[in-house]
Amino acid sequence: MLILIVEDERKIASFIKKGLEAEGYTVDVAFDGEEGLRVAQINDYDLILLDIMLPKLDGVTLCGHLREEGKETPILMLTARDAISERVLGLDNGADDYLTKPFAFDELLARVRALLRRGGPKVPPKLQVADLILDSSTQEVRRGERPIQLTSLEYRLLTYLMHNTGRVLNRALIEEHVWGSSFDSFTNTVDVYISKLRKKIDQEANKKLIHTVRGIGYVLKE
Ligand code: CA
Repeated sequence: MLILIVEDERKIASFIKKGLEAEGYTVDVAFDGEEGLRVAQINDYDLILLDIMLPKLDGVTLCGHLREEGKETPILMLTARDAISERVLGLDNGADDYLTKPFAFDELLARVRALLRRGGPKVPPKLQVADLILDSSTQEVRRGERPIQLTSLEYRLLTYLMHNTGRVLNRALIEEHVWGSSFDSFTNTVDVYISKLRKKIDQEANKKLIHTVRGIGYVLKE
């Protein structure tokens, strides 16, 4: 289960992240509304914990944007005490539930579990570009009839590329999403992994799917 926390108070964000990770969830954190919206658009989260008062873009607006775009990810709003108008506004803009700060972690956990149950077991999406198929329910990758064995990092990299089919991704963006943080920009880790992936995906195929965009990065497309 993949959870996104959008919270600018780093202590609170880190406290929630640690607690949820201890329960076995995978957790991403965004510290402002714009970053939160961006990662929520890119990734398929099972749940978003969304603070309302955020720099750059407030939580209510962020929630409204996601719903307008058809994202149905359950959203749990974190609101300041007694801010009833905030809660109403949040629920009006598509939030599923809210929790008033400060809260006990157990209460948060109970809400999280309830929302994840309500979301139900989603049918994991099968991603396909040309004859390249990635089945996230079995983690199987095929090019036509040919099965492709990937390491977990290569699999994450391919998933990210396929989620963004047709979009040119620069190295920093790829680093951030596949490795979770950006590392020394003088290293060529992204290029190394792209090259490994290419060998497995494209080498024996007629049609190349991973393309280099000179001076920028990479794009996966037909
Ligand atoms: Ca805040």
